[in-house]
Amino acid sequence: MTAATSTFSKLPPLPALRDFIHMYRLKAKKILSQNYLMDMNLTRKIARKANFDSNTHVIEVGPGPGGITRAILDEGCARLDVVEIDHRFIPPLEHLAEAADGRLHIHRGDVLKTDLATIFKDAKIVQQKEWFDFSPNSHIIGNLPFNIASPLIIKFLREMSREEGPWQFGRTPLTLTFQLEVAQRLCGEIDSEHRSRLSIVTQYICEPKILFVIPGVCFVPKPEIDVGVVKFIPRAEPLIPCDFAVVEKVARQTFTFRQKYVSKCIKTLYPTEIADEMAHDLLKNCRIDPTQRPFKLGIDEIGAMCVFYEKQCQKMPGLFLHEVFKKNQTIEMLANEPNALPPTFKK
Ligand code: SAM
Repeated sequence: MTAATSTFSKLPPLPALRDFIHMYRLKAKKILSQNYLMDMNLTRKIARKANFDSNTHVIEVGPGPGGITRAILDEGCARLDVVEIDHRFIPPLEHLAEAADGRLHIHRGDVLKTDLATIFKDAKIVQQKEWFDFSPNSHIIGNLPFNIASPLIIKFLREMSREEGPWQFGRTPLTLTFQLEVAQRLCGEIDSEHRSRLSIVTQYICEPKILFVIPGVCFVPKPEIDVGVVKFIPRAEPLIPCDFAVVEKVARQTFTFRQKYVSKCIKTLYPTEIADEMAHDLLKNCRIDPTQRPFKLGIDEIGAMCVFYEKQCQKMPGLFLHEVFKKNQTIEMLANEPNALPPTFKK
């Protein structure tokens, strides 16, 4: 067995990651999208590019056998909490914790159901900042399982936009991995092939950036796709003054038919009998050309649509609940629905 002899490591010598996998019989499980990053140069690059300092409290999502975990500890942080669903990784992580001088804390559970704010709160390391201040000394990092990457980033963005969860302490940055195609959509610029619903809901609330790309061959087992490491810095001032649920709904419907006119997409926000009139009103008021294609719209234009749509929903209780493609939904039926419009955005 080879002992890790890296001169960069601030951890005492540990078995090499590859030996950890054999020692603890950690065969990757496809069902949990387990693809390990074994190259410590790459795990160190993730930790370094995340760019946190030694006072930072880091939470890592899905540490697995602990490659990125080691790199975060080596980089230097005040404390690292990891959330891992698969019980097989707990013994190797405990092995790592013994070498980590009390800095590594392990939570077994599903990150989608784990209260990350309580982890920050209980440790009392993160100093609360006003939203407009620079980031607090907190950071969330993870080489995410592909099967939960999208639901997790939507959950994080929703919490960020409402200053809830880990964002109640201020503008906590995120450094996460995604399938390259998803990473490109998160960062998709106007008029690009990657522009999508995800680009809008991400970019109105934070500034995402692809830090670097990891070729699929660097993972064990190798996925057929490359991976993008994305850093998200929450914006001091969101670009759209509406609740996340409104932005999410308008963005989703705007991109229903990517190559069609925006008017056709926007009509899906309304029951058929009023769709033409309501969509016409919205586009006219927002000064948007009905024959524009969705991917050519700027965030300011989509923001204007969100604000106007929110007003329409306030005037017509039930409209916000209108489900696209529920063909039989009539205005009368909507009138019986509760007004599920989220609270108007305050800032
Ligand atoms: N971070 C390790 C690395 O880079 O080598 C492992 C990455 S692997 C792609 C994803 C990890 O997330 C696995 O360890 C898997 O067990 C864990 N995982 C999967 N679903 C999870 C969930 N819902 N909550 C927490 N961890 C999860």
